[in-house]
Amino acid sequence: MDTQEFRRVGHELVDWIADYFDRIEDLPVLAAIEPGDLKSQLPASPPQHGEPMEKIISDLNRLIVPALTHWSHPSFFAYFATSTSGPGILGELLTAAFDNKAMLWRTSPASTELEDVTLDWLRQMMGLDAGMTGIIYDTASVSSMHAIAAAREGVEQRIREEGMSGRPDLPLLRVYVSEQAHSSIEKGVITLGLGQRGLRKIPTDGEFRMDPKALAAAIEEDKRNGYLPFCIVATVGTTSTSSIDPVREIIPIGEKHAMWLHVDAAYAGSAAVVPELRNILAGCERADSIVVNPHKWLFTPFDLSVLYTRHMDLLRRAFSLVPEYLRTPEQENVRSGSDYGIQLGRRFRALKLWMVMRYFGHEGLAARIREHCRLAKQFASWVDASPDWELMAPTPLALVCFRAAPNVDGETDEIRAKRLDALNEAIMHGVNATGKALLSHTKLNDKLTLRLSIGNIRTTEKHVEQVWQLLNKQLDTLGQC
Ligand code: PLP
Repeated sequence: MDTQEFRRVGHELVDWIADYFDRIEDLPVLAAIEPGDLKSQLPASPPQHGEPMEKIISDLNRLIVPALTHWSHPSFFAYFATSTSGPGILGELLTAAFDNKAMLWRTSPASTELEDVTLDWLRQMMGLDAGMTGIIYDTASVSSMHAIAAAREGVEQRIREEGMSGRPDLPLLRVYVSEQAHSSIEKGVITLGLGQRGLRKIPTDGEFRMDPKALAAAIEEDKRNGYLPFCIVATVGTTSTSSIDPVREIIPIGEKHAMWLHVDAAYAGSAAVVPELRNILAGCERADSIVVNPHKWLFTPFDLSVLYTRHMDLLRRAFSLVPEYLRTPEQENVRSGSDYGIQLGRRFRALKLWMVMRYFGHEGLAARIREHCRLAKQFASWVDASPDWELMAPTPLALVCFRAAPNVDGETDEIRAKRLDALNEAIMHGVNATGKALLSHTKLNDKLTLRLSIGNIRTTEKHVEQVWQLLNKQLDTLGQC
């Protein structure tokens, strides 16, 4: 593709993207296709000869777009609603053009140094202390796994050198999370060879926050049994409800046993850029590491997750391995990304975050997140005021957990529980099938619960009102079944 053709098709595609955002509300949020539909329309073997871009773009329109679930749709309220943004997309475009492999400082000084500066800006915006240094990974799952690996390196059991298997001298190493923690922590524990037995889940209180007393008792009990408790993972903004573990109360428990405290703030950490919400990170000034995902709530396209830690040395000790062909004269004086993780080559992700932060500024980012929280509280107030609906958890940020709960006279508790689960599931599928909005669900205290997450840069009050109407329409239709 010569530069002339690139320029022509590139301009067309930028127009295409702008048109996509202009018409996105006319598209169904959830892809209206059945499993296998797309595959059955694509050739099973690769093209023998090159094809013109026009033909490829025509297939993009005809085949790929209908198979998309539109995360950028302003009525995408499922999972954690997120969104990309203009400056973020342009940053990605440039990253693809530069195609740097930022493994060593010299293979991409720009990526290495811009990452340092951008993450320090973000640290300041979030009100984290200067002892925290950041590094970018792809996802929170990977960030947390690296944090646990660094914590494990800190227990001084020569695990890097000797491994864990076949070692009678090694006690059972344990990580502690709440029952509401994200499954990525368990996956990280499995990946690191600690085994599911190496994870202990601590009960939560009535508001889905880790119970610090139960945590302290579990650690004491494990120590009595000869185990080695080495890491606590607290969650600020759990996936099901956005509940916030009491980090301040958890801190002294970890410190008493010289354990690493990792904070999973993958979702909610971004909210700390709003000055009046900064207190969600209270206690994190004594945490050992914290993960936050700008790809969740900082309008940065997927993927970009940041791990902050005050023990970069341990992370390095866990992962640095420099073969001869990667040695450079400056290696002692610079930071090379590949020393801090499993990957060698790393994408130039900082560029898009830098562009997002500069384009919106601290105030602009905070204003958008503040508005999302306001909209969520407004939706929660409608739920609360309605006799047919109920809130299932507090709404500290921009996620509302709720369900339809119309009364039927003379029903037993058991029948009511079954009826409401079935009703809410049907309401959710009914709303999603309209293509006008997308919700997801969780289970809280064994009750099927609907989740409405607001995090898209294009979501306004109109979209929140519309989904409330859709929900009520479904309830009117299904409520009597
Ligand atoms: N931690 C929490 C609290 C989350 O909510 C999520 C995803 O929603 C994750 C971790 C995993 O995020 P990622 O997809 O970046 O691995």
